[in-house]
Amino acid sequence: MLYGLIEAGYEAYIVGGGVRDLLLGLKPKDFDIATNAHPDQIRAVFRNSRIIGRRFRIVHVHFGREIIEVSTFRAAHNIDNVALVEDETLSRADAKLDSVRATSGLILRDNVYGTIEEDVQRRDFTVNALYYTVKNFVVHDYVDGFADIDRRCLRMIGNPTERYREDPVRVLRAIRLAAKLDFSITAETAAPLPLCAQLLESIPPARLFDEFLKLFVSGNSLPTYRLLRRYDVFQHLFPQTWAAMQTNTAYCDLLLETAFANTDGRLAEGKTITPVFMLAVLLWPALLANLRSNGSGLASITDTQEAGQNIIDEQVQRLAIPKRFSFPVREIWELQQKFADRRGKRVELLVNHKRFRAAFDFLLLREQCGENLQGLGKWWTTYQEAQPEQRAAMVAALQTPAAPHANSRRRKVKSPRPNLTPT
Ligand code: ATP
Ligand code: MG
Repeated sequence: MLYGLIEAGYEAYIVGGGVRDLLLGLKPKDFDIATNAHPDQIRAVFRNSRIIGRRFRIVHVHFGREIIEVSTFRAAHNIDNVALVEDETLSRADAKLDSVRATSGLILRDNVYGTIEEDVQRRDFTVNALYYTVKNFVVHDYVDGFADIDRRCLRMIGNPTERYREDPVRVLRAIRLAAKLDFSITAETAAPLPLCAQLLESIPPARLFDEFLKLFVSGNSLPTYRLLRRYDVFQHLFPQTWAAMQTNTAYCDLLLETAFANTDGRLAEGKTITPVFMLAVLLWPALLANLRSNGSGLASITDTQEAGQNIIDEQVQRLAIPKRFSFPVREIWELQQKFADRRGKRVELLVNHKRFRAAFDFLLLREQCGENLQGLGKWWTTYQEAQPEQRAAMVAALQTPAAPHANSRRRKVKSPRPNLTPT
C-alpha cells in the first residue's frame, strides 16, 4: 500500500489511530494513510480506488474486503497560508474558496493541500499526529506525540477552544478516545469541553449519529458515558434524557450504567450487541417522564406508542436515528407494556415476537435497577423455561379473577404503571 505510492515517487505515511494503537500495543481498527499525492494522483496509482467526501476529499482504496483511507496532506486553516491547490491552474482566490470557514469559526470545507508539517497542525491530538513511513521505518513526531503516549494523555494540538470551534465533533473525539484508550485529557484540553459541547448543536444530526455509534457501540460505553456526564456533554446529545434525569437521577443513572456495563461485557465476550437496545435504554428515562407528565393513571399501550413517537421525533432533531433502529426501539418500549397483559393467546404471541428477547432483557434490566414490576421478570423467565402444559397452567392461573367484578379483573391484567421510586 505505502510502497505503491512511494514507488510512484510520492511520500506516504501511516498516520492517526493506526500508529497510536500499535505503539500502545493495541490492535488498530484501521489504517489511515497520508500522502503528498493529490486525490487524482492517488487514484492513478490504485486502480481499485474511489474519491469520496465533500468536506474532506479522500480516496478509498479497496483491498479485498478492506478499505484504506488515503488523504492528501492538508494545510492549516489559515487560508492565507495556501501552499498548494489541487488544480495548478486555479487562482489563489479560487483556492481560498476551497477552505470555507463560517463566521463561528466552524470549518465547512477543507481541501487546501499542504506539506506534512502543515498536515500535522490540522490533526486533533498529539498522539494522533505520529507519521510512520516504511521508507526508512521511522516515526516522525512533530508535536511530542511520543511523550504523550508515554504519559497516556490526550493533548489538543494548538489552541483547544479554537480547535473545538473549528470542528465541535472533536469534543466527542476527546471523550471517545480518552474512554477507549483509558487516557487522561490534559487540563488545558479538557477545560473548554463543557462550554464547547453546546457547539455540537450546529453539527448535522447524521454526523452526530455516526459519532453516537462510535461512542456507544464499541465496547467502552460505560467510561464514555461517565466522561460525557463529567464534561457536561451528555445533555447536548440526549437533551430529553438529561431533563428527565434531573428528577429521577438515582434510578436513571443506575439504569444507564448497568446497561452500559452489560453491553461492554457482552462485547468483551465476543457477543453481539445492537444500537437498538442502547437507544431504548438511553431514551427510556425520557419516555417515563413523558408518560408521567401526561398524568393518566396507568399508561396504556396507545399512550406509550404516542409518547414513544414524540420522544423519537424530538431526538432525531439531534441524532438522525435511522428508522431501522428507531422502529425496533419503539417496539421494545411497547412490549414493556404488553408483558403485563398476559391474557390467553397473547402470551405465546409475545414469546414469538421478533423483539421478545431484547424487550425481555430490557424488562430484567428495569427490575434489576429497582423498578417494581410485581414479579413480571420472574414470571416470564419461568414461562420461557416451562413445558407447554405448564405454560398453559401459568396463563390459566392468571385468568382466575380475584373478584368477579369486571373492573378489578381488568386492573389485574393491566400493566402496572412503571414505579419510579426504586423499592
Ligand atoms: P480510531 O481508533 O477510532 O480509528 P482514529 O484516531 O484513527 O481513531 P479516525 O476517525 O480514524 O480516528 O481518524 C484518523 C486520524 O485523522 C486521526 O487520528 C486524526 O489524526 C485525524 N482526524 C480525524 N478526525 C479529526 C478531526 N475531527 N479533527 C482533526 N483531526 C482528525
Ligand atoms: Mg482510524
